[in-house]
Amino acid sequence: MKSNRHGKGDWDPTDLERQWSTIDPVVARILEKPFLGAPISEAEGEQLFHTRGAECEALVHAADALRKQAVGDDVSFVITRNINFTNICYMGCRFCNFSKRMEDADAEWLSLDTLADRAEEAWLRGATEVCIQGGLHPKMSGDHYRDILIAIKARVPDLHIHAFSPFEIWFGARKNRCSVKDFLVDLKAHGLGSIPGTAAEILDVEVRQQLTQDKLSADEWMAIVRTAHEVGLRSSSTIMYGHVDHPRHWARHIDMLRRIQMDTGGFTEFVPLGFIHYDSPIYLSGGARPGPTYEEHVHMHAVGRLMLHGWIDHIQVSWVKMGPERAQEMLGYGVDDLGGTLMNESISRASGAPHGQEITPAEMVRIIRAAGRTPVRRNTLYDIIERYDDHEPAEYPPLVDRNERQQDRLGLAMGRREAG
Ligand code: SF4
Repeated sequence: MKSNRHGKGDWDPTDLERQWSTIDPVVARILEKPFLGAPISEAEGEQLFHTRGAECEALVHAADALRKQAVGDDVSFVITRNINFTNICYMGCRFCNFSKRMEDADAEWLSLDTLADRAEEAWLRGATEVCIQGGLHPKMSGDHYRDILIAIKARVPDLHIHAFSPFEIWFGARKNRCSVKDFLVDLKAHGLGSIPGTAAEILDVEVRQQLTQDKLSADEWMAIVRTAHEVGLRSSSTIMYGHVDHPRHWARHIDMLRRIQMDTGGFTEFVPLGFIHYDSPIYLSGGARPGPTYEEHVHMHAVGRLMLHGWIDHIQVSWVKMGPERAQEMLGYGVDDLGGTLMNESISRASGAPHGQEITPAEMVRIIRAAGRTPVRRNTLYDIIERYDDHEPAEYPPLVDRNERQQDRLGLAMGRREAG
């Protein structure tokens, strides 16, 4: 395996070496590797997930030092709005309680006008990005993904559209009977800016069989992401952990992401997403754990930082999954990004998570400063737009309530016609 691009040097080893001299020498040798420009192997990564006590303390200390070496003390966030354009989906993933049947009373389908309204509203509240994902509506045309882009770009041409998971790309290409590459090239031509690296779950056949009946295989997920990067669409990378998985799956998953990154350089960040178990079918039937423990959250962010050092600079914590307080704590374990303000998020809340509405830019800044770090606002691709060394972010009016709670009845009716 290649050595990482940060290579040797530019770090002060004294503190770390002192700590390493007091712990298990095998763990110490693994922790030292990224500082020397050498990659941590999958087996070594798995070992790190099992560290406890002094070895675990050394792990988080190393993760924090690597974070500082890679990106300094800045902690970034992006003003973005999540828009889930439909929750109608028949894929039946067993961890998901977001999906509804068409006839369900709480089934939603947002019209193109409504999507454009919400995007424009986000733009007026300072958003540089909208993140759009939805269920795989069985009657939806593959062209609908393109229509969403056209509708939003017509209204807000400069807004970055971060949209459509690899599962949606797979679905749209199948619907249109075209290759994934042709589908992505067309979406890019119509304004797609980047894609979320969601639907990765755990890149392992055995785990995916239990979670999703392997409808989108690990190989297909990786091929779609590689193709997206190849056509110039960057993506995030994710892992969903804390259900039927084990440390060996986590280490392999991170290693696979790293291999993709070595070839394409297309990942912008790594985002650990803890499994939200409440109301999830697989949990309710006794088939999964109730999400990750706190210790597992710490390990995931810290080991992610170590294994990806030199390849993916940004480790994002999901405040939606963990809540703002725990997310703030993760800043000490290798994390340098707090993700998006979101404005509305419904996937995690549909699974019963208590978080997921909005953190305003002012709250983001407060959380980051309270952790002793410097808040910066970024765009989707991690270019810094504004630093908050000595001033507060602009204030925006609250969202109109209709967008948060009200069922879009008109949109639902229109959407059914569009979908048909
Ligand atoms: S996770 Fe996505 S694809 Fe799977 S059932 Fe839920 S909405 Fe559908």
